[in-house]
Amino acid sequence: MRMGAFLVWSLMAIAALLAVPAVSHTNALTTFSLMASSAAFVGMGIAQFMAARPPFLETLFGGLDRVYHFHRRIGISVLILILIHYFLKPDFKGLALTSGLNQLAASAGKYAFYSFVVLLVLSIVKIVPRTKIEIPYHLWRYTHRLIGLLFVLVAFHQMFIKRPYDGTALLAAYLNAFAALGILSYAYTQLLPWLRTRGYEIFDVARHDGATVIAARPLGRPLRAKPGQFGFLRVLKSGLREPHPFTIAGIDANGIVRFAIKPLGDYTQALREGVAVGDRLKLEGGYGRFNHRRGGKKQIWLAGGIGVTPFLAMAAHLTGDEGQEIHMVYCVRDRREAIGLETFQKQAERLGNFSFVLHDSSADGRLDATKLAAGSAIDPAEADLWFCGPPALREAIVKGLKDIGKGPRRVEFEQFQFR
Ligand SMILES: Cc1cc2nc3c(=O)[nH]c(=O)nc-3n(C[C@H](O)[C@H](O)[C@H](O)COP(=O)(O)OP(=O)(O)OC[C@H]3O[C@@H](n4cnc5c(N)ncnc54)[C@H](O)[C@@H]3O)c2cc1C
Repeated sequence: MRMGAFLVWSLMAIAALLAVPAVSHTNALTTFSLMASSAAFVGMGIAQFMAARPPFLETLFGGLDRVYHFHRRIGISVLILILIHYFLKPDFKGLALTSGLNQLAASAGKYAFYSFVVLLVLSIVKIVPRTKIEIPYHLWRYTHRLIGLLFVLVAFHQMFIKRPYDGTALLAAYLNAFAALGILSYAYTQLLPWLRTRGYEIFDVARHDGATVIAARPLGRPLRAKPGQFGFLRVLKSGLREPHPFTIAGIDANGIVRFAIKPLGDYTQALREGVAVGDRLKLEGGYGRFNHRRGGKKQIWLAGGIGVTPFLAMAAHLTGDEGQEIHMVYCVRDRREAIGLETFQKQAERLGNFSFVLHDSSADGRLDATKLAAGSAIDPAEADLWFCGPPALREAIVKGLKDIGKGPRRVEFEQFQFR
């Protein structure tokens, strides 16, 4: 278990434990109910904090993609816990709701509960069960934003509801701390578009078969990003304002950036059709920990399709004195889809520690572990595998390598999915 996950589960468990001395004088059901609600509340506060993308979380979880995946797991746990809280109705005998504030807090809790269940289910369920209907990302995003407001409502509920413990109890202080953390984080995430973004202007757009490649220069302070990291990009143009994550496929000393974007859905298709030289961008980043310098002395880089983007940035920055030996395989369905070939080929000719192979599946057949191992100067069993591409390709290659006794020492991969 990653350090970050351990910390989060522990903080939630502490809330549940603190609830025991605070309410055990009531009865067992009430105690369980408040253990569940206290742990859920801490989980909600932490989830808000994670949404603010503080950089140190990437170290605790191993990258922003993993932060988001864990954020989702917290959402699922919170949903289960609030259902427990709801169905094990707490029984505060003798604690009548005396003031108007208590009444208001009780109603806030009720409405927050129903809305939370709906929003959490919407957030967790990507595809409507038994159908192929996918909940559109923008709908998901807007409904997800409301969860922050609901958290404020829940914080109000937990602070002002008539509780079977004193406001000075350790549990009260603990929950108030997470209320403050969650509310401040939510306020901060609403300001993020102004606080952490950098202004850019597009000076080149190339529409290749496999991707739209755009190049942009900074209008003020440039983005700070390491090769292999990604950023959130939005174009300040009608229909293209929604921020989407894309790997920074190239960044130079002057802050000039390049993105290679595959038209896979509504936004990326609209971007391909609508983006033009002179358009303004807002960029936020860099995020992620996909950088070969963290890896071992022998590495195999495997890119599948548009998963080539982090490798493009990393290969362009190789100088030959890394003390690492790297063999790269770029797997494409068809040669015409390949991007950045000149960069890879030039670096392979220039540097002694980097070799490059293009695997064109239409001509060479499906890439499998045996072909990968046979075509590599580096023994996979002695190397790290750095992968970006379709998860099915990664799973097949890793399993195949293990089957032929050449399982890599470590597998590092970037996920192109947050949800
Ligand atoms: C860390 C990371 C790096 C990426 N790097 C690249 C890259 O270099 N080149 C590239 O072509 N693609 C990259 N992607 C994928 C790219 O972000 C999605 O293909 C794109 O956002 C899809 O949007 P769409 O509306 O065109 O497609 P849709 O069909 O609407 O969405 C397809 C899927 O993409 C995800 N998605 C959609 N909108 C968003 C959004 N605003 N924010 C986050 N995810 C969203 C959802 O899971 C959705 O189910 C990267 C993704 C991540 C997470």
